[in-house]
Amino acid sequence: NEVISRNFIEQEIEEDLKEGHYETIRTRFPPEPNGYLHIGHAKSILLNYGLAQKYNGKFHMRFDDTNPTKEKTEFVESIKADIQWLGADWEDRLFFASDYFEQMYEAAVKLIKKGKAYVSDLNPEQIREYRGTLTEPGKEDPNAAKSVEENLQLFADMKNGKYEDGALVLRARIDMASPNINMRDPILYRVAHMTHHNTGDKWCIYPMYDFAHPIEDAIEGISHSICTLEFEDHRPLYDWVVRELEYPNPPRQIEFAKLYLTNVVTGKRYIKKLVEEGIVDGWDDPRLVSIAALRRRGFTPESIQKFVELCGVSKANSSVDYAMLEYCIREDLKLKRSRMMAVLHPIKLVIDNYPQGQVEYLDAANNLENEELGTRKIPFCRELYIEREDFMEEPPKKYFRLFPGNEVRLMHAYFVKCESFVKDENGNVTEVHCTYDPETKAGSGFTGRKVKGTIHWAPAPFAKKCEIRLYENLVDEEKGVYNKEDGSLNLNPESLTVLTDCYVEPALADTKPYDSYQFVRQGFFCTDAKDSRPDALVFNRIVSLKSSYKL
Ligand code: ATP
Ligand code: MG
Ligand code: MG
Repeated sequence: NEVISRNFIEQEIEEDLKEGHYETIRTRFPPEPNGYLHIGHAKSILLNYGLAQKYNGKFHMRFDDTNPTKEKTEFVESIKADIQWLGADWEDRLFFASDYFEQMYEAAVKLIKKGKAYVSDLNPEQIREYRGTLTEPGKEDPNAAKSVEENLQLFADMKNGKYEDGALVLRARIDMASPNINMRDPILYRVAHMTHHNTGDKWCIYPMYDFAHPIEDAIEGISHSICTLEFEDHRPLYDWVVRELEYPNPPRQIEFAKLYLTNVVTGKRYIKKLVEEGIVDGWDDPRLVSIAALRRRGFTPESIQKFVELCGVSKANSSVDYAMLEYCIREDLKLKRSRMMAVLHPIKLVIDNYPQGQVEYLDAANNLENEELGTRKIPFCRELYIEREDFMEEPPKKYFRLFPGNEVRLMHAYFVKCESFVKDENGNVTEVHCTYDPETKAGSGFTGRKVKGTIHWAPAPFAKKCEIRLYENLVDEEKGVYNKEDGSLNLNPESLTVLTDCYVEPALADTKPYDSYQFVRQGFFCTDAKDSRPDALVFNRIVSLKSSYKL
């Protein structure tokens, strides 16, 4: 039901439209270019983009690069690529907050002229002391009494490089007794002799986030500035800035709860440590939840869109189970991807009555539930690989796969009956010998008898040997992500299993980075974009198949 399913942000937007506050809905995604984006950012991106789409509005991409210390140009490109991949299209609306430094400076001058801002020489400790506490009001800054002329001169001097870092700040003049500490004459500008990646050495004063952000929004004509809950207490300041600067249709800030996922590491500090200590293979290690990692693991934009949609938007912080993300990728790939055969733990199967040297090409539907995916040919011959677990010398009850005397179907091929097996000196089975029945070819309509098991295989001389990487959570679910005593990570030592002796059908020979498949009975897999080579294929398991597979 359309009406009931509207989230609180949509309700507020519709009200604003009805009351004529805005003509065009404009939203933005404003990352600081100081790191890689993660699944939480994906929520913010898709939320903002989705709202612009829904209300026929515009979506802006804006780098919030007003803080010269932490920013790196290298992140600008990775962030753009991630957002494009997610499907949020900013068209020609790509902005850099640092392009507005001049306007921000003018805005500060305007406040000074209105008597709403002053230059202060209190040092950081004094500012903290004067600010008071939650239970105690703050004290007036003695600088607040300065004249407009004096403040204009001092601010110009700050800008012109007459002062050292930290010597002076520009403060808003609001209310030192406000119950909201953010309103007790917050700092608007600071002196910082630093080179900025965009503006170079042009500026030696930089605006604070709480001052810069509403101005950026207002300049771009943003209608709804959507941010996360920790900025709720900053909203009065946001409103103060746009009101005092007299913007005609000031933007509104709306907060929603951040997305948290259980059993994953999202903290940048921790990820950095994992990368530096070599525990993970970079920011895009498939066990991480950065967007680059999810992409490399084999998640699709559609699966992440679905996930974000299922999470909904809320005003209360909560965590979402990682299993929901897995559910979304399974659902997305189920009908879209070919179901191929891959043998992860191989053992040789020899069909004794199949002529040596003979090869036939069998037809296989790529996805039985989706005919549009077509068919492929699979070479069939005397020697195949099957999964080691699909043969047992002494089977337990209800084991319907191969054991001496038992017959199974080889998927897309024939019935084979186990006649004997070979063991090495250690007692390990090395070969299973079978006979096949030519009458039972798949698709021939054979109904003479039935078998209870179907197993997959790969044709030994044609199969591509490859590496397959299986993943589990990077952290130990039982113990919790972080260690209670020292805050360290409770790592799961089995988060990565590398299988190097796997075989896939020859149809996978020209797989490309990020291509994904279902490997029957094993899950969904994706060609690793970093390590796979045409002559040494590497696949990542995206997710296993949900239910334990029934034969
Ligand atoms: P982080 O601390 O993870 O880097 P951030 O807030 O510093 O997050 P920004 O680059 O400032 O990252 O974020 C850009 C936008 O993404 C902001 O509007 C922020 O509110 C939003 N965002 C960040 N993390 C989440 C999250 N977990 N869920 C939803 N939105 C998020
Ligand atoms: Mg950040
Ligand atoms: Mg931030």
